[in-house]
Amino acid sequence: MKVLIRTIKEFDLDEICQHLLVVGDLTGDCFKCRELGLNYANVKSCPKCNTEFRYITSRKTSDFGLKNLSILCRKRPDLICIEFNDLKHHQSREKARDFLS
Ligand SMILES: [Zn+2]
Repeated sequence: MKVLIRTIKEFDLDEICQHLLVVGDLTGDCFKCRELGLNYANVKSCPKCNTEFRYITSRKTSDFGLKNLSILCRKRPDLICIEFNDLKHHQSREKARDFLS
C-alpha cells in the first residue's frame, strides 16, 4: 500500500529557491522569477527564466494545506514536495543574519 510519510532531510536553501514551483489556489508560480499562471499539473520548467522545477510546495499552510500538499505529491511524483512554512522559516532566518552582518 502506498502512503505518504513526512520526512526530514537536509537541503540546500539556495538550490530550493532556484528550482521551486509554488502552487496557489488555481495555478502555480516560479519562486525564482515570480512568473505567474503556470499549470502546476505538468509544467517542467519556467517559460520565463527557464529554470527546471525540482521542488513543489503549496502556499496554503493550514491543515487543508497539508492535504493540498498530499495531492501535489501524488500529482507530481517527479518533484520533491516541501513544506512552505519550513522554507519561509529558513528564509527569514537568513535575511536576519544578512541584516545583522
Ligand atoms: Zn521563472
